[in-house]
Amino acid sequence: MNADPYAWIEKDLDTIYRANWYRSPQSIESCPGPRVKLAGDWLINFASNDYLGLAGDDRLIQAAMAATQEFGTGTTGSRLVGGHRDLHRQLEQSIANLKQTEDALVFSSGYLANLGAIASLVGKRDLILSDKYNHSSLKNGATLSQAQTVEYDRCNVEDVRALLTEHRDRYRKCLIVTDSVFSMDGDLCPLPQLLAVAKQFNCMVLVDEAHATGVLGARGAGCVEHFGCTGETLIQVGTLSKALGSLGGYVAADAAVIDFLRNRAPTWIYTTGLTPADTAAALEAVKIVQQEPDRRRRLQQNIQNFRDEAIANYQLPITNSLSPIFSFPLKDAATALTASSKLKEMGIFAPAIRPPTVSVSRIRISLMATHELAHLQHLAKALAQI
Ligand code: PMP
Repeated sequence: MNADPYAWIEKDLDTIYRANWYRSPQSIESCPGPRVKLAGDWLINFASNDYLGLAGDDRLIQAAMAATQEFGTGTTGSRLVGGHRDLHRQLEQSIANLKQTEDALVFSSGYLANLGAIASLVGKRDLILSDKYNHSSLKNGATLSQAQTVEYDRCNVEDVRALLTEHRDRYRKCLIVTDSVFSMDGDLCPLPQLLAVAKQFNCMVLVDEAHATGVLGARGAGCVEHFGCTGETLIQVGTLSKALGSLGGYVAADAAVIDFLRNRAPTWIYTTGLTPADTAAALEAVKIVQQEPDRRRRLQQNIQNFRDEAIANYQLPITNSLSPIFSFPLKDAATALTASSKLKEMGIFAPAIRPPTVSVSRIRISLMATHELAHLQHLAKALAQI
């Protein structure tokens, strides 16, 4: 037999290409900020999750450099086998302090935190109820856990209640899983209502605060704080790579949960500890998030200014949310690609998001605290033109 067992790859790539779903990264040639250099041109940057403008902050850079000089570039092993540093523990304590939880555990990315937490908390005889629009890491965490997973309609607590009434009795444990701010549309999950129904049916709740940490809540603790749910028993997961400007992820919860994850989560036990540079930068960022609430105020002001500009001057369809994420759905993938390149010609970096990431192709915009009013005005005008 002379068949090529890899021949299907070229074919599949061709299908992806013909559907306009083909993706390749675009290289940024400057430090993160409200303006970035791409292929030699400076563009206003609406493609970044660096909501507070910390990824290029000199204090984070200095902290990363000092930690690298003292502890080297890599941690050389898993946390349990030679890869643990005091810095990791300091970061975990500062995250627990921000979130007002008993403890926290730092992972090498938010994706790994979600996989590890979900796969440890539930197993084959258990049930997961997962919002249809949850992030890929939550969905794959559910797959890895082998629990029976049922998706509920977007943010629909009545659907959750109906599914629990139908299924809960047949399973040992149940975990309700949701993004707190949805990464593609920027809407907020109905957290207090989900917690209430969870209590009624004896379910655990895991909420992914990736896009809310640093952004929402008076102290920047996220959606949990925004909704006044601080101190409730639930499991909070998040990333160090968005408003915190570094890299890595975390779980914040009761001490027993964290102790259990340290002994069970495969994506924590069997992977190398976070680098000293990333850990120190995140530690500095958590401090700044609490010490400089003005960054959050400026971000909220920018959200408001953009909305006012887009609605009043151009009648654009803008959602009413506190998050800096805005989506502009388009007819298909080709239209989204054309829109993105037209925006680039107008000096704007805003990516086309296409299937399979989303079912409806779109332009996704994310705002930063460091954008200026002129940036937002230019964005609204350009979006109206396309
Ligand atoms: N959860 C959500 C909701 C996200 O949007 C992301 C990143 N896009 C992650 C988790 C993964 O975080 P990280 O980039 O740290 O792996």
